[in-house]
Amino acid sequence: MKKNRKTGLKKIAVYAGSFDPLTNGHLDIIKRAVKLFDGIIVAVVDNPNKKPMFTYGQRMEMISASISKMKTVSVMHFNGLLVYFMKKVGAIVLVRGLREISDFEYEFQMALMNRKLNSSVETVFLMPAEKYTYLSSSVVKEVAGLGGKVKDLVPQHVLAYLQKIKK
Ligand code: ADP
Repeated sequence: MKKNRKTGLKKIAVYAGSFDPLTNGHLDIIKRAVKLFDGIIVAVVDNPNKKPMFTYGQRMEMISASISKMKTVSVMHFNGLLVYFMKKVGAIVLVRGLREISDFEYEFQMALMNRKLNSSVETVFLMPAEKYTYLSSSVVKEVAGLGGKVKDLVPQHVLAYLQKIKK
């Protein structure tokens, strides 16, 4: 990883979410973030109250396999406040994806709350390719659960996981 010539510091960004499971939309955001930051930590929220379909371990496994060729991307999990996790790993940039205007209200609220909790955290919003703007983990689970094809919507490793569950 390249260091800043003046400060000697690396710019680490956290891309946080449920990733239940990772979709091609998430992967699109990760690839865009790779171009902007020295290191990206994909942070999987470990919150059982959200009743995820996959355990955080399974979600991390799917992400790990899907990012294995991206040298500057790693995966971790966290619970509790995201800003505490970010402090722990030395990241001041939070990456989130914006698909459409309906994402905005919630994301705006979260960004301002995180800034209130830690004023050095900056939230950066990245937009995916247009073809992913309708894509969400919930849509993938719903379509896959009803026997529909999700091949073009999720990375290969996630597809394999979804197929394993169906059997
Ligand atoms: P959360 O439950 O925290 O919203 P998600 O896993 O649904 O977690 O999403 C994580 C982040 O990725 C959020 O910022 C979300 O807006 C973004 N995201 C989800 N799906 C897409 C997509 N298809 N394209 C771009 N960003 C997305």
